[in-house]
Amino acid sequence: MKVLKFGGTSVGSPQRMKDVCKLILEDGQQKLVVLSAMSGTTNSLVEITQYLYGGNKAGAGDVISRLRTKYTQHVAELYSTDQYKNKVQKFIDDKFDFLASFSPSNFDGDQEKEILAQGELISTFMVTSYLTETGIKAALLPALDFMRINNDEEPDMEFISENARKQLDQNPGCQIYITQGFICRNMSGAVDNLKRGGSDYTASILGAAIKADEIQIWTDIDGMHNNDPRVVDKTEAVRHLHFEEAAELAYFGAKILHPTCVQPAKFANIPVRLLNTMEPEAPGTLINNTTEADKIKAVAAKDNITAIKIKSSRMLLAHGFLRKVFEIFESYRTSIDMICTSEVGVSMSIDDTKHLNEIVAELKKYGTVTVDQDMCIICVVGDMDWENLGFESRAMEALKDIPVRMISYGGSNYNISFLIKESDKKRALQRLSDVLFNGKE
Ligand code: ADP
Ligand code: ASP
Ligand code: MG
Repeated sequence: MKVLKFGGTSVGSPQRMKDVCKLILEDGQQKLVVLSAMSGTTNSLVEITQYLYGGNKAGAGDVISRLRTKYTQHVAELYSTDQYKNKVQKFIDDKFDFLASFSPSNFDGDQEKEILAQGELISTFMVTSYLTETGIKAALLPALDFMRINNDEEPDMEFISENARKQLDQNPGCQIYITQGFICRNMSGAVDNLKRGGSDYTASILGAAIKADEIQIWTDIDGMHNNDPRVVDKTEAVRHLHFEEAAELAYFGAKILHPTCVQPAKFANIPVRLLNTMEPEAPGTLINNTTEADKIKAVAAKDNITAIKIKSSRMLLAHGFLRKVFEIFESYRTSIDMICTSEVGVSMSIDDTKHLNEIVAELKKYGTVTVDQDMCIICVVGDMDWENLGFESRAMEALKDIPVRMISYGGSNYNISFLIKESDKKRALQRLSDVLFNGKE
C-alpha cells in the first residue's frame, strides 16, 4: 500500500478536496491518505491561541467566528445531500463550540495543542464524509489513537506500527484510509503535534510503520526545485535526489519537504515521491538511496543564523578544547549547524538563539568571542564526493563577489555550505542559479 500526503494547499477549498478525491480514486488501488488542515487554518488556530495567551478572549472570538463562517460555506459547497450537509455541519459546529470554550484564565500548552489539532480533525472528517457520500468505502483512522511521541519528542515507532496496523485491520476492505497529519499524543496521553509543517513527517513515519511501497508528498509545485522558487527566477524541478541530498535541502530551507520527514523513510528504505496536485501527471521528484554521479543538484538557504567565533591561541592546541566548547552548547540544548576550525579559533553557526547570552558568557571563559547575527546558510547539494574535481570550486566561483563568513565542505559526500549575510542571500541564490544551472559564467 502507498501512503499519500496532501498538504494544506491541496485541500485548501471544497473544489480542491474534490480534485484530491478524484486523484486518489483514479487507479482503483487501496491507499493510506494523510491530510493537512485546509491552508490558512493552522495559522488561524495559532492566532486564536495567541489571543488567549494575551488575555484577549474577544480577539480569539473574532478569529473563531470568521473561521466558522468560512467552514459553514465549505460544507454547503462540498456536499450534495442534506444528510451529509447536516452531519458535517453538526461536526463543524461542535468543533467551533469547543474552540470557543477556551478562556484566557489558566490557558496553557496542553490547551494550545488541543486547539492546534482541530484543523486536521476537521479536514479529514470533511474529506472522508465526501468520499462516503459519493459511495466510496472509506475509513477515517484517528491519528490520536496511534501516533505517539516519546519524551524526547521522537516517534514511538513500535507503538505506532502496532496500533496503525490494528486500525487498518479493524476496517478491512476499504479502498481509501484517511488520517490526520501533524497531530499525535505524547507519553502522558495529552494531544501534541509534530511541529509546524509536520504532516510530511506523519506520512513518512506511517510509511515506515506499515512498510509502505512508497510515500508520496503531494503539494502545489512539481517537486523539489533546484533553487528557492520564492526567491529566484528560472528554477527547475530536480527529478531525482538521494535521501541525504533531500535532507540537506529540506533542513536548509527548501520548504516543500519538512526536514524530519526524510529519516524514517530512509531508515526503512521506502522511496519518497514529491508530486504536484495541480499537475498530477508531472513526474515530480523521486527520493531514494541511489546517487547520481557527477552532478550539482540544487541550492537552498536558511535564514536567521547566528555565527559565533571563539579565538584562543592558548587553549586550542590543548586537547579537550572542542569538547569543552561543545559541552556548553549541549548543556543549553542548542544544536550547531556549521563548524569551521583553525589552529587559533573555532567558528560555529546556530539558529536557536534562546540561550545565546548564556552560551557566549560561558565561552568567554575560554577565549575571545565574536557574534555575527542576521546571517544565512547557503547549501549547495549534489555529488560532492571529495575525489570529484571542480564541483566546490564552481560554487565558490559563483559566489566570488559575495563576502563569505564560513565555508563547510567534507562533512558529507553531498554538500558544501557557505555562511553569508542575510542581506546578500537573494544575490547569492540568483548567482548560484545562473552559474550552476543556467550556464552563465
Ligand atoms: P504544503 O502545504 O503542501 O505542505 P508547503 O507550503 O509546506 O506545502 O510547501 C510547498 C512550497 O514550498 C512551494 O509552494 C514552494 O513555494 C516552497 N518551496 C521552497 N523551496 C522549495 C524548493 N526548493 N522546491 C520546491 N518548493 C519549494
Ligand atoms: N497544518 C500543519 C501546519 O500548517 C501541519 C502541516 O500542514 O504540515 O503546520
Ligand atoms: Mg508543508
